[in-house]
Amino acid sequence: MTAFWTEADFDDHEFVHFVRDHASGLTAIIAVHSTHLGPGAGGTRFWHYPNPKDGLRDALRLSRGMSYKNAMAGLPAGGGKAVLLADEARTKTPEMLAAFARAVEGLGGRYITAQDVGMSQDDMVALKANTDHVAGLPGQGGDPGPYTARGVFLGVKAAAQRALGAGDMRGVRVAIQGLGSVGGGLARYLAAEGAELTLADINRDRATAMAEELGGTAVSADQILAAEADIISPNALGAIITEQSIDALKAKVVAGGANNQLATGSEGAMLRDRGILYAPDYVINAGGIINVLRHVDNADDDEINARIDRIPGRLSQVWDESDTSGQSPDVVADRMAQELIGRA
Ligand code: NAD
Repeated sequence: MTAFWTEADFDDHEFVHFVRDHASGLTAIIAVHSTHLGPGAGGTRFWHYPNPKDGLRDALRLSRGMSYKNAMAGLPAGGGKAVLLADEARTKTPEMLAAFARAVEGLGGRYITAQDVGMSQDDMVALKANTDHVAGLPGQGGDPGPYTARGVFLGVKAAAQRALGAGDMRGVRVAIQGLGSVGGGLARYLAAEGAELTLADINRDRATAMAEELGGTAVSADQILAAEADIISPNALGAIITEQSIDALKAKVVAGGANNQLATGSEGAMLRDRGILYAPDYVINAGGIINVLRHVDNADDDEINARIDRIPGRLSQVWDESDTSGQSPDVVADRMAQELIGRA
């Protein structure tokens, strides 16, 4: 028998709760990686996995990711993640949500859930009927995108200063991939400080409209990573930094809000070898979770802003340590996070 804790993605998770509710048909996994700094906090994903093992893998990996992210954001929260295993038709009933909420409640606050892929705001409100341990409800901060965008903006500025010696963003050429909630917000901040923008979105009209409004240049989505720019800011999909895309990069900095930018993990070292400064994604994009988890310690708006203001400082710590150790910033960030959660 293969022991569960020899699974490749098992990383001394404090507990993994398998939930089955016969009456509603709910099957769910709640993984809590660490409660060292506070309750294990992280979103609930509703997804159809043809192989349920992939659901377990997501729960294990994503909960560890939340431990690292929350720790590096200085939050009084550990890391957790829940996965609701959807059937092929993605049936989601009130009874299933109620059963899931009861399971969360049964953990007594050791796991705090929030919205993730496949879950709506209405679903989160429904969960609240059966558990107190739900973060990011309507009226508690709303859309995380603007908070993430501000943190990314501050991180991009810190990177520009470090890699380009730029005191402000005037004339700094920034290429932004993805102009949604995060990338669009970032573009506005940068334009207001006089950056030169190159913009791309698979929705070409959005890029064109934004370039007209903010005074930048729109290019096609497949050209953006190789754009003539000082900074590339990925704000769309993950896994876009690959060996091939690194070869084509002309920028000196990669700093953006997209999750899981490095395709396999080894690209951090390749960027470093090419002298390109990388802002670890989960450090620079923490503004949203900082706001979503405001009720964990009843932080007010001033405190939320102060926490977001600390993102550039945290990045500088990572870069300093990277310069001293010779390790890439992504590796350094993981190690700093492990120290913060008592796993050095
Ligand atoms: P969004 O859906 O609002 O915007 C994404 C944009 O990217 C859309 O305009 C879409 O058309 C565009 N896009 C998709 N594929 C593209 C491609 N190949 N090339 C160019 N553009 C493409 O999403 P968002 O909330 O802005 O999130 C963007 C990224 O940031 C995601 O990776 C997300 O996981 C990450 N993130 C978001 C938050 C947040 O608070 N919203 C927090 C942390 C991380």
